[in-house]
Amino acid sequence: MSHELRTPLNAILGFAQLLHRDRKEPLSGRHKERVGQLLTGGQHLLRLIDDILDLSRIEAGAVSIYPEPVSIREVLDELTRTLEPMAEDHGIHVKVDSLPPQVATVAGDRTRFAQILMNFGSNAIKYNRPAGSVVITVSTPRPDRVRVAVNDTGIGIPADKQQKLFQPFQRAGQELGPIQGTGIGLVITKRLAELMGGDVGFRSVWGEGSEFWVDMPLHSSTAHSAPRPSPGDADADRVTLQGRRLVLYVEDNPANVAFMQDLVSSLENVDVLTAPTAEMGVELARTRHPDVVVMDINLPGMSGTEALHALRAAPETKGIPVIALTAAASERDKARGIQAGFYRYLTKPVKVDEFVTALEALFAPAA
Ligand code: ADP
Repeated sequence: MSHELRTPLNAILGFAQLLHRDRKEPLSGRHKERVGQLLTGGQHLLRLIDDILDLSRIEAGAVSIYPEPVSIREVLDELTRTLEPMAEDHGIHVKVDSLPPQVATVAGDRTRFAQILMNFGSNAIKYNRPAGSVVITVSTPRPDRVRVAVNDTGIGIPADKQQKLFQPFQRAGQELGPIQGTGIGLVITKRLAELMGGDVGFRSVWGEGSEFWVDMPLHSSTAHSAPRPSPGDADADRVTLQGRRLVLYVEDNPANVAFMQDLVSSLENVDVLTAPTAEMGVELARTRHPDVVVMDINLPGMSGTEALHALRAAPETKGIPVIALTAAASERDKARGIQAGFYRYLTKPVKVDEFVTALEALFAPAA
């Protein structure tokens, strides 16, 4: 389902991004604005699809929770870093109140715990007032529980709309307003918190602000969770591409192939070679030695993951980095992909900047 819904969006969002950033034939101001509308609409549709699929997976009992000791400090650091660009855009000040030292770790699934706080945090920014603020606090309402609360100075929620919050598609009066949303985020946060043995709650005063919190079981040991690998050295240094490079793109969907050819032609000194099946891709990799293989996973015949194994097994191709570019976008798919040995696991619809950054990192002289 995810694949069926994301594939056409890949062409829509992909080409819209290319038009928007085209330097050779720049769009006129009016056209750029319209393409901007296409992007906004497409991204909204993508969020809606992701949220609906995530919720239906949770409701079907198909979401696995991997409990581990999770360092609150690390998750909050990551959260504030992720929220920073959005907060800046909206002119909102975000701060974490000092953490009590005894609440170092909770027991939960780190990704899902972070997802809950991300939803609270982005709502607190979105539904705030100009030059407002967001304050995150940590407390222990019970000896075995930790509460992380996100407070805002926003518009608040009318009392008569509060009862239906945490129900799917309920936007508490925002459905006619200018702030985009799906009305699914809070439902997901509640289900996820419950799956981890926790809970969520809120209080809100119309016109004054809101506080949303999640209560999580305290982890019995005070051990810190293992630091995660940072989300890519790719972001560290932007570099100019040097020398000619060859990208082999293995993809069966003609619109995606056309998109990639268009994208690569906007980069300097990079050529692209395409193969519609994994079998042909493996063969081309052997004979043409590309600098990188970009691999769809869901292919007719041999899958992208099988092709990765075949490339790794042959001495002449085993050193070629392989980037997965796929519509299989769940956290589980990503974890499996990285475990299988993909250099990066990128999802469709392609984020052009993310993709270009991954290529630049690979083509950097030191790489
Ligand atoms: P949405 O995608 O609409 O933001 P959510 O499920 O995250 O969906 O939230 C549901 C509704 O709850 C929102 O549409 C909004 O009306 C209200 N809401 C959530 N968080 C806040 C907040 N911090 N301040 C005011 N209203 C909020």
